[in-house]
Amino acid sequence: MSSLYLLKPGELTLKGGNRPFFERLLQKNLAAMLKGSGAQIRMTRGRFYLHCPPEAEAQAEEALSRLFGIAGWAKTRECEKTMEAVIAAAVEEGKQLYAGGARSFKIEAKRTDKSFPHDSYTIRCQAGEAVAREVPGLRVDVRKPEGIIEVEIRERAFVFGNTRQGRQGLPVGSAGKGLLLLSGGIDSPVAGYMMASRGMTLEAVYFHAFPYTSDEARQKTIDLARVLGTYTQGLKLFVISCTAIQGRIKEGAPEAWRTVILRMAMMDCAEKLALKRRARCLISGESLSQVASQTIENISCTQSLINLPVLQPLIGINKERITALAEEIGTYKISILPYEDCCVLFTPPHPIIRGDPQEAKRIYLSLDLEELIKEGLEKAEMIDSGATSENYRRP
Ligand code: ATP
Ligand code: MG
Repeated sequence: MSSLYLLKPGELTLKGGNRPFFERLLQKNLAAMLKGSGAQIRMTRGRFYLHCPPEAEAQAEEALSRLFGIAGWAKTRECEKTMEAVIAAAVEEGKQLYAGGARSFKIEAKRTDKSFPHDSYTIRCQAGEAVAREVPGLRVDVRKPEGIIEVEIRERAFVFGNTRQGRQGLPVGSAGKGLLLLSGGIDSPVAGYMMASRGMTLEAVYFHAFPYTSDEARQKTIDLARVLGTYTQGLKLFVISCTAIQGRIKEGAPEAWRTVILRMAMMDCAEKLALKRRARCLISGESLSQVASQTIENISCTQSLINLPVLQPLIGINKERITALAEEIGTYKISILPYEDCCVLFTPPHPIIRGDPQEAKRIYLSLDLEELIKEGLEKAEMIDSGATSENYRRP
């Protein structure tokens, strides 16, 4: 017997005529996450059903907990459309809730198939009574139950307790592609995650300045891309050397301007890569005034040379919340590993705080970085973390 999961779609139910497009993507994304596991996904009337061999349950649950576009999901019992079968399944669910620590419950019932002879009120009453009777210690509480047993009468009857919260958002792939500037820090992986949660397909770029930044710093970013990729069905990371660019900036730019000018070079180079990769925007992890290079004036300088929109989903979010999100999505532990990122060794003691974009452009253009950027792009290395489930299991 295969195990069965029921998925409740989230925001995509609001999509009117476009809904099938979102549904197909959801199905495709989940299939990619479960490739090779023997899982099968089926969709009927606004519900997705995932069948998988029992030995693939852990993998299926991991995938469901990382899938954007669902409001909730539950392992479910499927049974005959008779009151007796529904009651028996509800009692089993009740036992499981009790074993999990719940001491009160309520039943929720939905009858989509109106040919079923009992209405949802009757289902609630009869199943509720039976569970309270058969599972000593578990009592009915309709106001604040510790567990909910749901019954849905559709083409078959489905009974499930313990519905888990889904990741909400929209299926990845529904909102075009964005190129994420991914550093080894805490913020940029979270920025990427947030755009992916709105349906954006991601690719990422990391600027590496070997030997000023170590191979460990590079590996850290590759690991971050792998974790992020578990939410996006894999992620392609482009590693571009910016050693020569950094050298030229160090020689030729006023010391206070170094960081801002380096950011401009990253944006310039990232935009060129984005156009090649058909990405429609850049994504970065700035949070307003978090550091000197993230004042509004310096952000204007950073973006003064490029035309693509730069999405900064963390711009109004403070560090505590960003950190909590990083912990929740599993990137924090990697981000705080002690390897320096691109700019630490190069950061001036007194950086400019309110740069003027005209001045920034003048300095930038005087450095003649075009050739070096071109070279960096030509030598870019692509690392594809793939959509495979081994990625979830690694620490
Ligand atoms: P993060 O925690 O993401 O590193 P940060 O607070 O350290 O952010 P900055 O160093 O000012 O901030 O970088 C701002 C943004 O620029 C980062 O969020 C990231 O999107 C991008 N960025 C910085 N360094 C790099 C790099 N070496 N490669 C790619 N992108 C980078
Ligand atoms: Mg950083």
